[in-house]
Amino acid sequence: HDPSRIRNFSIIAHIDHGKSTLSDRILEITGSVAKRDMQQQILDSMDIERERGITIKSQAVRVLYTAHDGKEYELNLIDTPGHVDFTYEVSRSLAACEGAVLVVDATQGVEAQTLANAMMAMNANLDIVPLINKIDLPAAEPERVKAQIEEALAIPAQDAVLCSAKTGVGVQDLLESIVYNVSPPQGDQHAALRALIFDSYFDPYRGVIAFVRVVDGYLSQGDHIQFMATHNDALIEDLGVKTPAELSLPSLNVGDVGFVVTGLKDVSLVKVGDTITHFDTPASEPLAGYRDVKPMVFVGLFPIEGDQFEPLREALEKLSLNDPALVWEQEKSHALGFGFRVGFLGLLHMEVIEERLEREFGLNLLATAPSVEYKVYLRNKECICLHSPQELPDPSEIAQIEEPYLTVKILVPPDYVGAVMDLSVSRRATFITMNYLSPTTVELVWEMPLSELIMDYFDKLKSSTKGYASLDYEFLGYKPSNLVKLDILLAGKPVDALSFIIHKDKAYERGRILTEKLKDIIPRQMFEVPIQAAVGGRVLARETVRAKRKDVLAKCYGGDISRKRKLLEKQKEGKKRMKSIGNVDVPQEAFMAILKVD
Ligand code: GDP
Ligand code: MG
Repeated sequence: HDPSRIRNFSIIAHIDHGKSTLSDRILEITGSVAKRDMQQQILDSMDIERERGITIKSQAVRVLYTAHDGKEYELNLIDTPGHVDFTYEVSRSLAACEGAVLVVDATQGVEAQTLANAMMAMNANLDIVPLINKIDLPAAEPERVKAQIEEALAIPAQDAVLCSAKTGVGVQDLLESIVYNVSPPQGDQHAALRALIFDSYFDPYRGVIAFVRVVDGYLSQGDHIQFMATHNDALIEDLGVKTPAELSLPSLNVGDVGFVVTGLKDVSLVKVGDTITHFDTPASEPLAGYRDVKPMVFVGLFPIEGDQFEPLREALEKLSLNDPALVWEQEKSHALGFGFRVGFLGLLHMEVIEERLEREFGLNLLATAPSVEYKVYLRNKECICLHSPQELPDPSEIAQIEEPYLTVKILVPPDYVGAVMDLSVSRRATFITMNYLSPTTVELVWEMPLSELIMDYFDKLKSSTKGYASLDYEFLGYKPSNLVKLDILLAGKPVDALSFIIHKDKAYERGRILTEKLKDIIPRQMFEVPIQAAVGGRVLARETVRAKRKDVLAKCYGGDISRKRKLLEKQKEGKKRMKSIGNVDVPQEAFMAILKVD
């Protein structure tokens, strides 16, 4: 075991700049995966990851590389999720490394998460190897991007590796650069064991498997280990490295990265960021930086068919075995019946889980609009953490409501600063500062309520800047706001699952827009359906869905059976995501309309 021959590195980048493709190429070029077994983006193992081309879970793989100096090196490659929902996972992956390959797309240049990830890597004191990717594309401008990396990130980029992860050009240069520029791991092989958990997942046959970086000491087969933050303990059932095939080893030594099979049955016992030590000879201090991940976005999930409530509970239980960030509690809605209020790290996490519930568990769900966690201070000095708008107490009982705020950083070319200003101000954002990172890149910093960000902000930002703006954010804290509950009434009855919390000054406008939208979304019924938006019993806006005149089949004069069948199927399709509330059929879209601002 020779730490001087080990290099631990992550690949970081803005989303779509080519991290996963680059990881694939490294596996191929080092002969870790035979070409015929090469499947695109081999490290993105979840189906949804592969389809959406995003990385959700980190993965760590060891490859062997014989450098130009004739020596063989162990390169531990840690692929990180690029999306802002998973920033904490990225930060733990970086804490497991000495180096980071910073991938920048030669056609896009530096974007918001390039900056955010580069800052994280610098704060973690990593050796940064800049890499300019996609140089095979005709629109590539490697020289311009080099200059931008130096100006915007203050990272020397004259020697940046020029690469095409697609064709493989430059990947060898990258491996050489990693061997020479990334420091080998330090640490004390004879000290008490401290291993950082930077990822974990639940394997139905073997229990929870943790990915770890051994910072001090060593870890052997059969060891009795302890988790310092959660105080659980376990016996190691197996350990080793992924190559990416699993390779068992007698031990993981100081500086190594590998997997540990714990046999524990719940991933929340083995948390990312926790430190593993020996049960009998524990280290005195855990490694720094552990924190509990907190859900930020909450959604009501209701089965469309009533008998799917138990299957939904079982599915959530199964998914949370593998996802400590997923939290849920039972919820009852007058309109939708029994369901669950589920908390997520962000909108992407939410979409992925909703998709998995439907796809992997065959559930048919109706989701309410996402909302944030409010802190409601009552006049009797009590404080409630509110996850569900319909549970807001009567205004007369409330002393103050606080909502979560973010620090939002936007990178944009100077021409679009005005557009970003207009949009952000309309979202209750407070301007903090503006920096020219380079002549072509401006950074705008805002403080903004999370509730405004989840309302379609990202799409609006993209469309108002022709796609040039990129965005990164972090949680800032809670601030008081003048908030009210906007109720939606269908056929005179309030529909609890459609109510949402909004700033008082915006209630009138949003009520008007939403009733107009719902008028188009709610299908005609046999009777007239008034739609009203109200705050505290006062109606702010009203629209009406007129009664249905003809049966759909009336259109099919003549005996065109296939057309008739198609129409019926179409109707059925539409019904699938519909829930009858009172006597009114309300489709899924109605709940999502709450998020669309215009
Ligand atoms: P990630 O989000 O950073 O993991 O990015 P991916 O590896 O998923 O790549 C995003 C997209 O860029 C995919 O469609 C890739 O095929 C494409 N891509 C990645 N590297 C290259 C490259 O060097 N050249 C070209 N032309 N396309 C690339
Ligand atoms: Mg990826």
